[in-house]
Amino acid sequence: MSVLKNIPKVDKVLVWPGVQAILIAYPRPVVLKGVRTVLDSLRREAMEGTSFVLPPVETIASRIAAAVERDTSLSLKRVVNGTGVVIHTNLGRSPLPEKVREQLDRIAYGYSNLEFDLEAGERGSRYSHVEELLCELTGAEAALVVNNNAAAVMLALAAMAVGKEVVVSRGELVEIGGSFRIPDIMGQSGALLREVGTTNRTHPDDYRAAVTTETALFLKVHASNFATIGFTAEVTAPRLVELGRDYGLPVMADVGSGNLIDLARFGMGSEPTIQEFVRAGIDVVTFSGDKLLGGPQAGLIVGRKACLDPMKKHPLLRAFRIDKLTLAALEGTLALYRDERQALASIPTLRMLTVTSAELAGKGRRVIRLLRRNLPAAVEVTLVKGVSQVGGGALPGQELPTFLLAIRMAGLSPQELEARLRTGAVPVVGRIAKGEFLLDLRTILDADVPLLLAALKALV
Ligand SMILES: *Cc1c(COP(=O)(O)O)cnc(C)c1O
Repeated sequence: MSVLKNIPKVDKVLVWPGVQAILIAYPRPVVLKGVRTVLDSLRREAMEGTSFVLPPVETIASRIAAAVERDTSLSLKRVVNGTGVVIHTNLGRSPLPEKVREQLDRIAYGYSNLEFDLEAGERGSRYSHVEELLCELTGAEAALVVNNNAAAVMLALAAMAVGKEVVVSRGELVEIGGSFRIPDIMGQSGALLREVGTTNRTHPDDYRAAVTTETALFLKVHASNFATIGFTAEVTAPRLVELGRDYGLPVMADVGSGNLIDLARFGMGSEPTIQEFVRAGIDVVTFSGDKLLGGPQAGLIVGRKACLDPMKKHPLLRAFRIDKLTLAALEGTLALYRDERQALASIPTLRMLTVTSAELAGKGRRVIRLLRRNLPAAVEVTLVKGVSQVGGGALPGQELPTFLLAIRMAGLSPQELEARLRTGAVPVVGRIAKGEFLLDLRTILDADVPLLLAALKALV
């Protein structure tokens, strides 16, 4: 009890020079909250431990400074992704290309022609800024963009199939994670699900048998995050288009990750590109802006004008409408695709997926040299081999050979090292495998290297 009495009162603490210094930099109510937090925790420590000793004034003051700093730092932080998962949904999916930075700056801090036709001097459409570009890149007749691909699917179904049946293979009724389930989205859109086939095999006759006067649409959904192997059969996009033509029904494909560049040349599993879906005659194709495309979160819809026109007039479009910052980043990213070499070189997601093993090894040696030169010997860094993942529900099972940094630090277990780096000022997220803390070089951007160095320096 006597130790409890020794814990100073709030007004006493506020006049300590160490705390006065904090008051110069931070608002009084914030500092007051920090003081109370620290004094409360001292009281708790005093009551819990028998060997409690009140820390010196300077220590208490620095604990208050740390509490105030924690409390005032913004919640959304830049993070160094050392996981090797390129399209990491929990870490913000695709980092934007540096090349869109100037455009983002211009549009964010001033007015823009977002919905103003400068030629005609009258109201314009926010969708016009990317429609032509999307048509040029994909070969489609019309295009539309919304907040994300989940919204794109819902809008398309609501506009084309409300109160009517949508035929989907049982093998494609997927859950994408974060509770995006095709049957649920369909329920919300007002369309009625008509499942056909079995989990592993669906045939053209299954679709034929499902057609009634109530049928509005054939829908194909990319399995995204899983693969079926063994005794399987699916109706391909071109075949589904033929079936659709037979019955005069439109065909839609939710491609999910959606790539504009064929990545098979870079050793990745062969996935049809968006252009191939359009060329195959699919009437409506939807895909994400921040998965393989490597842009901001967005839902892209391309296809036949007759199918997209009702979406452009649908009230849900207003609810799903894309914001100007996203639109600026999306137009900037799409513009890079006009030159494939430029897209591959400057869109981080594509760059990380296509980087060679030799390049990763070279980068590893450079980073290690830098770290060794700037860190004490207590930090030990070596280069090890491993595999990275694509992530984002794209190319499931695709393994990308990579190089990783194995980091050891005297006096810290791998678990402690992992936790300290994850909770630092600039969080570094890695993983522990076989008792070692690892950072995959594939997902560490060049701009992350100084941040990683600073994070390691802060530990020692
Ligand atoms: C990822 C994905 C979605 C959801 O896209 P978001 O842009 O995250 O809303 C929908 N369908 C498929 C097939 C997907 O892979």
